[in-house]
Amino acid sequence: MADKDFVIIDSAREEEQKKVLEQIVADNVCPFCPENLKKYHKKPIIKDGKYWTLTFNQWPYENTKHHFLAIHKTHIEHLNDLLPEASQELFELFQYVSKENNMPGGAFLMRFGSNPEYGTYGNSVLHLHAHLIEPDLENQKGEAIRFKIGDPKNRKNK
Ligand SMILES: [Zn+2]
Repeated sequence: MADKDFVIIDSAREEEQKKVLEQIVADNVCPFCPENLKKYHKKPIIKDGKYWTLTFNQWPYENTKHHFLAIHKTHIEHLNDLLPEASQELFELFQYVSKENNMPGGAFLMRFGSNPEYGTYGNSVLHLHAHLIEPDLENQKGEAIRFKIGDPKNRKNK
C-alpha cells in the first residue's frame, strides 16, 4: 500500500482503466501531475493554460457526445486551494471547447478532496480536475449519465 493514495482503483469503470490505475498504484505517483501525465494519459492536449491542461477524458462516460477534462497543473486536491485566477481560466477553457463544439448544453462537474475516515467522494484521481460533459441526446440508450458522488463502495473502511 502506498504511503499516500493518489488514485482509487475501485472507482474504475472499465477494465483497461483498472489496469492503468493498478500500474499507477504500483508506480506510487500521481498520474495527473505534469511530470507523470504523459505516461498514463494518452489523449491529445487541446489547450495548455497557465493553471490547467485541457484534454479529453481517457474513459468518457457512456452516452456522452463530448467529455472534456481540465487538469490543474500543480498538485492540489481541494476546491479551497484554487486561486481566483485559476477558477477564471477554467471557465475560459471550458467556454472555449463549448463554443468550438457548438455545445447546446451539458454539465460542468468537479469532485474534490477526500475524507480521512471514509476515503474519496467518487473521484478516481485525487489531483483536482473538472469535467465538461455533453450527453448524446440523439443516441442515448438506456440510462442517464451517472456521475457518482460519495460512492459507499469506495470506502476505505469497508
Ligand atoms: Zn498530482
